[in-house]
Amino acid sequence: MQKNDRKDHNEIILELENVCYTYEDGTEALKGVNLKVVRGEKLAIMGANGSGKSTLFLTLNGIHKPNKGMVLYNHIPVDYSRKGLLALRKKIGIVFQDPDNQLFSASVTQEISFGVLNLGLSFEEARERVEKIIEELNITSFRDKPTHFLSGGQKKRVSIADILVMNPEMILFDEPAAALDPKHARMIDEIIDQLSEKGITVILSTHDVNRAFLWADRIVLMDEGSIVSEGTPDEIFTDEAALAQTNLEKPTVLKIFESLCKSGVLDRTLPVPHTANELEQYIREGTV
Ligand code: ADP
Ligand code: MG
Repeated sequence: MQKNDRKDHNEIILELENVCYTYEDGTEALKGVNLKVVRGEKLAIMGANGSGKSTLFLTLNGIHKPNKGMVLYNHIPVDYSRKGLLALRKKIGIVFQDPDNQLFSASVTQEISFGVLNLGLSFEEARERVEKIIEELNITSFRDKPTHFLSGGQKKRVSIADILVMNPEMILFDEPAAALDPKHARMIDEIIDQLSEKGITVILSTHDVNRAFLWADRIVLMDEGSIVSEGTPDEIFTDEAALAQTNLEKPTVLKIFESLCKSGVLDRTLPVPHTANELEQYIREGTV
């Protein structure tokens, strides 16, 4: 299956038109950002610390209102009234980089139940949803603990459960693997993969070039509050100028592939491999 076959006829779900955002101290964090997000897509946002990724996310779900420009969700400009924002946040969930900014209830189960009990569902329905998420995200063993006693990986799972239980159409993950050990980072990757399979639109900010190369349909590179480049992972990671500007390394598989092409071991007209297995297959077949 081609990656793009999964998209719903390239329907635009979210659009930013010339969005500018300046913090109170005068920091211009977004300087005229234009972006279209397709329903069901896997979009990675990359760029150095301070390039504006988190500010972009906070603008996407209405926490920040642009000083200039517009955000449209399902082709309708965001309504910044309290009611409008509540409606938007049911559709777009955000998992903050630091779970401590997100978790505030006493126990894990209370935390996950809080939002869903305010959705207007019957009590039974709400409880069923909470139980399902607790099971799916493997939270059962610490469901009665106070959230502040949890490990970093557990907190991250609870902060994701908080969002998933609301059944959003789109989820924003701000550096979800930051500060997690490899096992928990993999667990989060798997959860994100499952969301994409369900057709949920996922926007992820990450510094992990290998993950972005393998996972994303499209990558957007940010630098100093602007989008400097966007394209498929293959386009972005072969764009030497954009990589240099944003200080990004090439993914390991691509580095080895290009080096083997250069030394004549592999044919550079081969489709770019995205996994170590694909690369190994080329080498085994001796495809010179
Ligand atoms: P990233 O997530 O890519 O690291 P941020 O969106 O956090 O980037 O930051 C973009 C710019 O905005 C940086 O210069 C940062 O220092 C500044 N910034 C972020 N939050 C605030 C804030 N609350 N007040 C003032 N400046 C901020
Ligand atoms: Mg950030």
